[in-house]
Amino acid sequence: ATFKELGLEANLLQAVTDMGFETPSEVQEKTIPILLEQESDLVALAQTGTGKTAAFGFPMLQKIDVDSRTTQGLILSPTRELCLQITNEMNSYGKHLKGLNVTAIYGGASITEQARQIKRGAQIIVATPGRMKDMIGRKMIDISKIQYCVLDEADEMLNMGFYEDITEILSYSPKDKSTWLFSATMPKEVATIAKKFMHKPIEVTV
Ligand code: AMP
Repeated sequence: ATFKELGLEANLLQAVTDMGFETPSEVQEKTIPILLEQESDLVALAQTGTGKTAAFGFPMLQKIDVDSRTTQGLILSPTRELCLQITNEMNSYGKHLKGLNVTAIYGGASITEQARQIKRGAQIIVATPGRMKDMIGRKMIDISKIQYCVLDEADEMLNMGFYEDITEILSYSPKDKSTWLFSATMPKEVATIAKKFMHKPIEVTV
């Protein structure tokens, strides 16, 4: 298939061309059409390096409203490095969307500066769980209107002990959002999270 056949709109197809992507990877082919067409939860078993960032990134970018400054999408990832990498990728994929603001939130950096960036109005926040929980608790971030939530590398996040933080963060989010969970493995802790926070997820394995 081509990216166009998966249902991506012109602004995003332009970014695909800019990035030099020729054909969708397997995880992209399997998830992008589902995420674009349905407001459903998703569990995807996929390793890093398979193109999973674009698999959830393009649908999220296509679905959010960039004319609004409200935070509509949240991506949780286990480490600062991954968080920055995803933020860069989202900015590349969304570079032809005028007004898009993707903000990275992670520990070990100035919370004041991150709060300042959030105030400018981020439609999408890419965050590590610890700092995100802090900033929500301090009322610096409002996720009460998010429609899309990605749990990226869910197995890693749980290995690193983020279960409580994730639970607390999600308690501030609306019930009727879509949750997209990506994990390389499916230990019982990940299955538990999927069961607790997701409703009849579509399952994809690559
Ligand atoms: P990820 O698994 O999301 O970390 O992606 C791994 C790398 O593959 C990143 O550098 C992406 O920019 C790149 N990539 C993602 N999708 C494609 C594609 N369809 N064709 C070529 N490269 C891609």
